[in-house]
Amino acid sequence: MANKQTILIIEDEKNIGNYIETILISNEYKVLRAMNGITGLSLYTSHHPDLVLLDLGLPDIDGMEVLQRIRGFSHVPVIVISARTQEREKVDALDGGADDYITKPFGAEELLARIRTALRHYLNTGQGKPQEPIYSRDELVIDFDKRLVVLRGIGVHLTQIEYKLVSLLARNAGKVLTYDFILKDIWGPYADTDNQILRVNMANIRRKLEVNPAEPHYIYTEIGVGYRMLESDDVRH
Ligand code: CA
Repeated sequence: MANKQTILIIEDEKNIGNYIETILISNEYKVLRAMNGITGLSLYTSHHPDLVLLDLGLPDIDGMEVLQRIRGFSHVPVIVISARTQEREKVDALDGGADDYITKPFGAEELLARIRTALRHYLNTGQGKPQEPIYSRDELVIDFDKRLVVLRGIGVHLTQIEYKLVSLLARNAGKVLTYDFILKDIWGPYADTDNQILRVNMANIRRKLEVNPAEPHYIYTEIGVGYRMLESDDVRH
């Protein structure tokens, strides 16, 4: 295949790097490897990969610094890989311009889904292609043009704020959105809001959309970080 997408892995743990490389190669991606931040940055500038998988704990410069430097000149999708489970760090990476994160240990399917989502969002927003006009997954369909939310064939009544929240998550389906990002997007950058208002609205949304609001199927809580909506089926015609 001539137009394979290239993924740069910046990861100092050899086993994890090998594991990721095997998954990517068997899924038709081209792979570049760097064992530290400086090599990663130089491979990035020489090869311009389509996506970067970035470990935060690197032996030379911190992964967060690598992210900052890449963001200084590029919007390439960056998915942070981390053994660290601290929510603060995930939020910092997302606020610092990472598109998503994945926590070790992770499976092949999870990794591939994150990569597909990040690449799709990049293509949708980066090259002026129109966004998908419809979100469709299992029993839920959202038509953004008509502002319609349909569950099992029946229209769901959402308040203005609830609709804004659901459509923001659905337009970014598969990708985690931080509480802060959502609050700023829905209520504006200067609104006097906190996570509580978000939780209340999300509880109402889940009562309307989920069979079991305590175990949501469509919108997951990423604890301490934000929310992630289930990836849409491919509805391209
Ligand atoms: Ca590491």
